[in-house]
Amino acid sequence: MRLQASSSVAFDESPAVSGSKSGELLRVESLRKVFASGTQEIAPLDGVDICVERGEMIAIVGPSGAGKSTFLHLLAALDTPTSGEVYFAGNSLRSLAEAELAEYRNRAVGLVWQRHHLLPDFTASENVAMPLLIQGTPVGCALREASERLAEVGLADVVEHPAGRLSGGEQQRVAIARALVNVPSLLLADEPTGDLDERNAEAIFELMQRLHRSHQLTSIFATHNLSLARRADRVLNLEHGKLAPAGEARVTRV
Ligand code: ADP
Repeated sequence: MRLQASSSVAFDESPAVSGSKSGELLRVESLRKVFASGTQEIAPLDGVDICVERGEMIAIVGPSGAGKSTFLHLLAALDTPTSGEVYFAGNSLRSLAEAELAEYRNRAVGLVWQRHHLLPDFTASENVAMPLLIQGTPVGCALREASERLAEVGLADVVEHPAGRLSGGEQQRVAIARALVNVPSLLLADEPTGDLDERNAEAIFELMQRLHRSHQLTSIFATHNLSLARRADRVLNLEHGKLAPAGEARVTRV
């Protein structure tokens, strides 16, 4: 099932729809974000530039507090930059009306957080179906779609289990299934393995890599796990407000 776009903005950039497998999906120009901190200001992003090709998998590393989450929030249009631009498929997010931004957040972007933010008393399939239900998809369709996504992440057997009774690794799989239920083209993940032990972190990362390929996603994830970061197509280091290619020496130091 693929949801129909109600917006005139071309967010359905997935190659399955557009036939396009290459070219720029995301461009960030001179991005700045300033927060007030007491009487002072801090600028975790102070002139970030990046161009992301469709199909790339990019790891963002950097010290805690460097601004990785802030950056992902701006890409997801969950916050607005102080200055600078984020372009998605050629559209400046700043130029979009609120309804178009909601469409972008709901349909173009899939989000995975360190903490899965599942509703513990709801079943795995209800959690995955939630983004569809919020959009008004009929319950039967939404739950069927959710079951398919759960099977894809290896959880066909726990579709009816309350999310709160699943293991940490299973809960993160549910969160990944939920992120993909709207068929996004851009997957943003903030420390997706941060709460997991080594074995589960490896399994979740392998799953993300597999889904990245099979869903023809463009993926950007922030991580402290350097061995996982090195398996991305590109590793970028965020420090002192700037994003730069992480050299091998720098990566091992972070
Ligand atoms: P990271 O994800 O790399 O650990 P964050 O993006 O969470 O870093 O935070 C970057 C800096 O911005 C930190 O100093 C943090 O305290 C600050 N910050 C983040 N969000 C806010 C906010 N809403 N208000 C004020 N300061 C914030």
